[in-house]
Amino acid sequence: MPQPHPPFKPCPCGSGRSYAACCQPFHTGERDAPTPELLMRSRYAAYALADSDYVRRTWHPDTVPSDLDLNDGVKYTGLRIHRAEESEVEFTASMKGPGGQAHRMRERSRFVQWDGRWVYLDAAE
Ligand SMILES: [Zn+2]
Repeated sequence: MPQPHPPFKPCPCGSGRSYAACCQPFHTGERDAPTPELLMRSRYAAYALADSDYVRRTWHPDTVPSDLDLNDGVKYTGLRIHRAEESEVEFTASMKGPGGQAHRMRERSRFVQWDGRWVYLDAAE
């Protein structure tokens, strides 16, 4: 089999698609994520790539933290979407801390439309 060119680079969101065909156009600003689920995926991928600009600009201005450090030594190792509804996405994110310890975070994220596009609001209780 000939090698594909450019080499296949899997998207960090774990979709199984190439990064260029998945979350990259959202990260570069070429397109806005059309649904909360795709926005959630692209935000996870941005955490994995330490793209804090993207994480910030897809966060509602009322709830975005004033400081956000993604170069904290955490490795993002997997994403599972459990449920995606109109404006809520429930997921489990897997990661590894700086010392190599694995942990998982389960969250129900809420998304709203803001200025004509989807943004992350907060985590539902
Ligand atoms: Zn992706």
